[in-house]
Amino acid sequence: MLEGLEPVTGKRRCKTRATLEGLESGDKKILTEALADRNKWSDKGLSVALQQRGIQLSNEAIGRHRRELCSCYN
Ligand SMILES: [Zn+2]
Repeated sequence: MLEGLEPVTGKRRCKTRATLEGLESGDKKILTEALADRNKWSDKGLSVALQQRGIQLSNEAIGRHRRELCSCYN
């Protein structure tokens, strides 16, 4: 049952990246900058602000992506 077993690198995208890629270019830029600005935006603060705009992205998903622990980086 494990024929052709391969590591799942680069194929699974994390929720943060999937969210980014689902945005229009202007919004994508804004979110990319918010993700990079950890002084202004805590993981939780960004998650809550996104939720208010109708985007569901957990602070855990944001945190993993920011710390490069998500599927984007393994
Ligand atoms: Zn990621």
